Amino acid sequence: MRERRVVEWSVRVLPDRPFYGGSIESDNDTCQEIAKGILRHVDGVRSATVLPDIENVCSHCGEPWTERSDTYNGGCCGADEEAAGDGKDETP
Ligand SMILES: [Zn+2]
Repeated sequence: MRERRVVEWSVRVLPDRPFYGGSIESDNDTCQEIAKGILRHVDGVRSATVLPDIENVCSHCGEPWTERSDTYNGGCCGADEEAAGDGKDETP
């Protein structure tokens, strides 16, 4: 019988502002500074690691990726449809 076992506990820390419109580098820098601050000021901390949550989205419109294909997202936007049409015309 399968059972659930906790392997390790951690604390997730979120910045006090959402990350909208920033670059990956600047958002990572912000989180790295927070991690350094945690290590300097919080007792009982062995490590503070920055880990991004990753999701797949359409590169054209940003909608969540719903398909198994890496190149066609079911027509979530005109650009996705257009790119799919281009691919269909290619001869292998
Ligand atoms: Zn799209």
